[in-house]
Amino acid sequence: MGSEYDVVVVGSAFAGAVAAKTAAEKGLKVLVLERATEPGEKVVSGGILTHDAFNEPGLEFLREGPLEREIKGVRWSICNGNVEPALEFIFRSTDDGRVGYSIYCYDFCKWLTNLAVGAGAEFRNNTTVVDVVKEDGFVKGVVTEKGEKINSRVVIAADGAKSLIGIRAGVRRKMPPENVENCVVLDFTIPEREIRRLGLSDTFEIYLGKPEELGTLVWIFPYKESFHLGVGANVSTRKNPTIFLERFLHSKLWKDRFEDIAKFRAWMWNTVPANPPLDVESSMLQETYGNGVLVAGDAGGFLDSVTSAGLYGAMVSGMLAGETAAETIPKGDVSKEGLSIYGDKYKNRLIWRLMHRTWKRDLISGNGAEEIVQWGSNVSNYVVKRGFDQPKPSDLKFLSEGLLPLLKYFGLIFNRKIPKLSELLTLFMG
Ligand SMILES: Cc1cc2nc3c(=O)[nH]c(=O)nc-3n(C[C@H](O)[C@H](O)[C@H](O)COP(=O)(O)OP(=O)(O)OC[C@H]3O[C@@H](n4cnc5c(N)ncnc54)[C@H](O)[C@@H]3O)c2cc1C
Repeated sequence: MGSEYDVVVVGSAFAGAVAAKTAAEKGLKVLVLERATEPGEKVVSGGILTHDAFNEPGLEFLREGPLEREIKGVRWSICNGNVEPALEFIFRSTDDGRVGYSIYCYDFCKWLTNLAVGAGAEFRNNTTVVDVVKEDGFVKGVVTEKGEKINSRVVIAADGAKSLIGIRAGVRRKMPPENVENCVVLDFTIPEREIRRLGLSDTFEIYLGKPEELGTLVWIFPYKESFHLGVGANVSTRKNPTIFLERFLHSKLWKDRFEDIAKFRAWMWNTVPANPPLDVESSMLQETYGNGVLVAGDAGGFLDSVTSAGLYGAMVSGMLAGETAAETIPKGDVSKEGLSIYGDKYKNRLIWRLMHRTWKRDLISGNGAEEIVQWGSNVSNYVVKRGFDQPKPSDLKFLSEGLLPLLKYFGLIFNRKIPKLSELLTLFMG
């Protein structure tokens, strides 16, 4: 069977569009298939693109992309059952003065796809891939929902966390429920001056409470003249995240800060891979490549194992998958062994280290994800009960059992280092 294309990329979001752009720039004949009408449309609509992406060799062009707000810090609020923040602390980035930029997926993926098309890739929208073509143990193309078979030398599965194509190709398994988080996100417009007044111009917010009251966490991501309110719930808890969202929307906090000034615009529902880390040692993935197939982005578990941030991982793995195709196809070896240079490539990049930050796994396996959240509510219960005005010896117990582990957890997420006790005390005492 001859090949119509050198590469067929499934999915034209962060991983797929960058893979297509890279492969096309290197002279390959590339087709990108996207089930949505517009690239990025089926992706949850926004997030924070960390500076890791801008610092990655080969991804410098991202600075030219449609960036929304430069983000330099995060405000963590630990809430009691009425969504009243009992304790708040702000982390500012110590890395290089910024965290990254907020972006809208829709705008960004459209921009990336246009770059791929500009480089010579063919883009087909409204096309859902339902299977791969397999011959002699090799993936040799894809099958669309209309039954059309499209042949290619290499298929790049960039179809997101659930990755039907990775599963059909035999490279990975279905995610177990405890590795999946359901997220619901509301998009609101808001005047720019209000963003500044609310302290959101360069800071995003995380609200944490008891899992049965606020889900895994609630977040507010600011954009130029809009923001997202999102909430996640682990699928294994069988809880619908909208319950937590409603609780938030009925809180005094929401009413006082946002209700009169925020205008609802859209809502989205999506799944995100959740901890424990989605690295190759976890149960979900077997490999990120096989005979005639490469898996990139969320489909391949290219996420920061601590934060579950996957935008950078998607784009760097997409770029490396495109490079791998361009190096192996002319040599005529797209066997699993030939494509294994993909592994060599990503193991030399920052993403590999981010995927293997094991302290979270150790923390979770030692304590349980629930317990980490429980520390948060211990802290909030304590603060509500006692206040900080009269420190007592028992405060030390509180510090060691609640606040320190929690700050270590979030401090590590944010600054990539364990905060010193003096720093914690400064935060604690104000
Ligand atoms: C609520 C939420 C908030 C997030 N916030 C952040 C954040 O702040 N920072 C961060 O770094 N990461 C964040 N993430 C993670 C980030 O969104 C993902 O890591 C990233 O989108 C992965 O990109 P991807 O290209 O691999 O897959 P996706 O973005 O999932 O894109 C997959 C693409 O494939 C298409 N597709 C799927 N199946 C098929 C098929 N069968 N046929 C054809 N097309 C198909 C889809 O329509 C889509 O366009 C967040 C995720 C969620 C859910």
